[in-house]
Amino acid sequence: MNLYISADMEGVAGVCSWHQINARTPNSDYALYRRFFTEEILAAIAGARAGGAGDILLNDSHGPMRNVILDDLPDGVRVIFGNRKPFSMVQDAERSSGAFFVGYHGAVGEPNAALCHTYTPSVIYEARVNGIVCSEATLNAALLGQWGVPVLLITGDRTTVEGVQQTLPWVVGAVVKESIGQSCVNSLHPRAAQAVIQEAASQAVRLAAHAKPFVFTVPIELQIDVAAVEQADFIALIPGFARIGRRTVRFIHDDYAVVFKAFVAAFRLGAAATAPG
Ligand SMILES: [Zn+2]
Repeated sequence: MNLYISADMEGVAGVCSWHQINARTPNSDYALYRRFFTEEILAAIAGARAGGAGDILLNDSHGPMRNVILDDLPDGVRVIFGNRKPFSMVQDAERSSGAFFVGYHGAVGEPNAALCHTYTPSVIYEARVNGIVCSEATLNAALLGQWGVPVLLITGDRTTVEGVQQTLPWVVGAVVKESIGQSCVNSLHPRAAQAVIQEAASQAVRLAAHAKPFVFTVPIELQIDVAAVEQADFIALIPGFARIGRRTVRFIHDDYAVVFKAFVAAFRLGAAATAPG
């Protein structure tokens, strides 16, 4: 199996504040949580290899997407490092045979999912595909699914893990913490979380034959409620987008890869709409 790992940081054990995971915050705890992030990835890799995974491609998927401590990674792991990728958190996954979501978090608006957001919190108030409110996990899983790649494992808080399993019931979950609102967690110790992830990763690879690619039925309709009205003004300029409400835009296509790129274009342009002039 060629395994793909998309790793975010909000769902890492103990994480409950942006100050832990934003390198640019003065006096942040980023250096410490960057290490915990890396150690959770190492646990997932160790479990995957114990379960029989072969080649591993890791996509660093948090913030500037340059977080993982590269020389801690074992031999034989390739890394996608850096931001502005067309397919963002699932870039270059086309040739993989299964995927892990490590350190994932809940969708914007989700109660009891610490640091919940969907891609760009300053722009995306809610994202829906075919009427389903989507998290990053759902949006990313559907692109993987279009490429025939099933999601095998998700790690994060209970809300995030169980939310994904409602839509993708074959996904093995590793719950490392319980969220108490948006900025507090009741968490496992980092080493205990890593043990849970390692065991779940091994199980996920062994059960890979039961997992299915997740796809949306066509035509695929993306609707985005944005945070500010001028963001809808800007996004509606993108060919194919229609303004259907005061702060709501719509994009319809049969190819989910096109829908996903439209979504990425929308949140990038939306961010430019409200950037300081
Ligand atoms: Zn993140």
